[in-house]
Amino acid sequence: MRRHLMKHQNLIIGVLIAVIAVAIGAVAYDIHARSAAVSSKTSQKTAAAETSKTETSQKTSAASDQSANQKTIVLDPGHSAVMPSGSEPVGPGAGENKAKDMVGTKGVATGVTEYDFMLSLANKLKPELEKRGYKVVLTRTDSQSAHSCTQRAQVANDNHADAFIRLHANAAESPAPNGAMTINITAHSPYTPSTYSQCRKLSDCVLNAYCSATGAKREGVVERDDLTGNNWAKVPTTLIEVGYMTNPDEDKRMQTDAYQAKMVQGIANGIDQFFKN
Ligand SMILES: [Zn+2]
Repeated sequence: MRRHLMKHQNLIIGVLIAVIAVAIGAVAYDIHARSAAVSSKTSQKTAAAETSKTETSQKTSAASDQSANQKTIVLDPGHSAVMPSGSEPVGPGAGENKAKDMVGTKGVATGVTEYDFMLSLANKLKPELEKRGYKVVLTRTDSQSAHSCTQRAQVANDNHADAFIRLHANAAESPAPNGAMTINITAHSPYTPSTYSQCRKLSDCVLNAYCSATGAKREGVVERDDLTGNNWAKVPTTLIEVGYMTNPDEDKRMQTDAYQAKMVQGIANGIDQFFKN
C-alpha cells in the first residue's frame, strides 16, 4: 500500500511536470505568435509608410512639375500718387536720362486718376490670371509709394517674368482720340534687341484680344525705344494704353464695372494667346 502510494505520488508529480511543461510551451508559443504577429503588423505598417512616402514624393514631384510649368506674369500699374525725384538712364548704358516716373493722366469726365484706375485694373486682372493658372506679381500694391520705371522693370527681371504687362491709359490734346494701343521696343533696340520678337508677339496678342473683348478702336502696335520701363526689362514686355481718359465717352465707359470686366477678359485672353503658339 505504501509502495503503491509512492508510485501514485510519482505519477501525480510526473503528470504535474508534464502539465507545467505544456503550459510553459503554450505560453512560449503564444509569445512567439504574438511577437510574430506584432512584427508582421509592424512590417505592414512600414510597407504602408513606404507606399505613402512614395505617394508623397509623387505628389511633390507633380507639384514641382506644375510650378516649373507655371508662367509668371508681372503686372505694372502705371504711375503713382507719389513721384520719385530725379532722373535715370532711359536704358542700360544710355547717355540720355528721363524723369524716373510721371504723374500720368486723369479722366476728363470722371476725375479718376490714371494711377488709381491702373491699380484697380491690376487688382481685377490678378485673380483672373491666377484662376487661369498663372503666378502674378504686381510692381506696386498702393499709390502712396514712389516707383521709378527702372525699379518696375527690375521687378519683372527679378521674378523672371514670362510676360511683363505695363498698364496705362492714354491722354491727348483734344477730346476726340479714342481706342487702345500697345507699345514695345523696336527691332533695332540699342538695349535688348534679343527680346524684340517676343515683345512684338505679346503686343499683338494682347491688343488683338483686348480690342475684340472690349470693342475698343484698334490704334495699333507702336514701336519706340524711349520708354525706360520697356528698355530695362529683359523679358517679353508690352505696355498697353487701354483707352483715352481725355475722351469723355471712353473715360466714362472705362469706369463702369461691365466694361472693366471686358478689359480684364481681353488682356487675360491675350496673355493666353501669347503662350499658346
Ligand atoms: Zn501712363
